[in-house]
Amino acid sequence: MAKIFCVANQKGGVGKTTTAVNLAAGLAGQNQRVLLVDLDPQGNATMGSGIEKSGLVASVYQVLIGLAKVKDCAQRCQSSGFDVLPANRELAGAEIELVDLESRELRLREALAAVANDYDFILIDCPPALSLLTLNGLCAANGVIVPMQCEYFALEGLSDLVGTIKQVHANLNPDLMIIGLLRVMFDPRMTLQQQVSEQLLEHFGDKVFNTIIPRNVRLAEAPSYGLPGVVFDKTSRGAKAYLEFGAEMIERAKQMQ
Ligand code: ATP
Ligand code: MG
Repeated sequence: MAKIFCVANQKGGVGKTTTAVNLAAGLAGQNQRVLLVDLDPQGNATMGSGIEKSGLVASVYQVLIGLAKVKDCAQRCQSSGFDVLPANRELAGAEIELVDLESRELRLREALAAVANDYDFILIDCPPALSLLTLNGLCAANGVIVPMQCEYFALEGLSDLVGTIKQVHANLNPDLMIIGLLRVMFDPRMTLQQQVSEQLLEHFGDKVFNTIIPRNVRLAEAPSYGLPGVVFDKTSRGAKAYLEFGAEMIERAKQMQ
């Protein structure tokens, strides 16, 4: 049965998609069967996996409103060997349409149950909001991976997310837990980043992943080639860090069994 992880942080541009795509590719490279779910109307995870978002016949949108099955919509990321449940702007409409549907926050959970035996990992790339889409991600997942930059306001934003996760845990999904906080775009030369990183370790202890993802331009360049960074330049520091993170996630997933 797949372990399902949501990559979430309501703050925009903190590295959610980069983490989801590179973790998917890194895990696939370590012989894991992976499905990456793009739950963001921006479709960045779709494009970053080399799938053109504009011409999609079926996407996660159709899955959420019950018009298609995951199996019929998933596409292969050819470069990296994982499957993608793609998204595009159409998904923005789901936010409104779902409101009138029954068990609106459990739609993704129910859809993924049908493919849980086909994968070792299902990763969900959430949009930058605590919206109904993110709620669907949180209700479907066993755990949350929270990428964050070690900046002054990062800790403040974290309390809203932690509060939401606690509520979902209490009311909708008792399986849900924070797997860990992932320090991304890290620049060790910046004293503030070092200080925030230390504060994180103090507050969250072993909920902070050991792996640190450095700021690395190769990771930022890769999506424009439709490739995950770990495939685009596997010798780069960023790629090596995400591969190490993949190994750390495999270990954490084992501990969950
Ligand atoms: P959104 O909230 O809009 O969905 P996001 O949280 O998914 O954003 P990304 O799209 O992954 O964030 O990253 C934001 C920008 O930062 C992108 O241009 C990405 O290429 C770049 N980026 C992400 N991680 C790194 C890194 N480790 N080093 C350098 N650039 C990075
Ligand atoms: Mg994103």
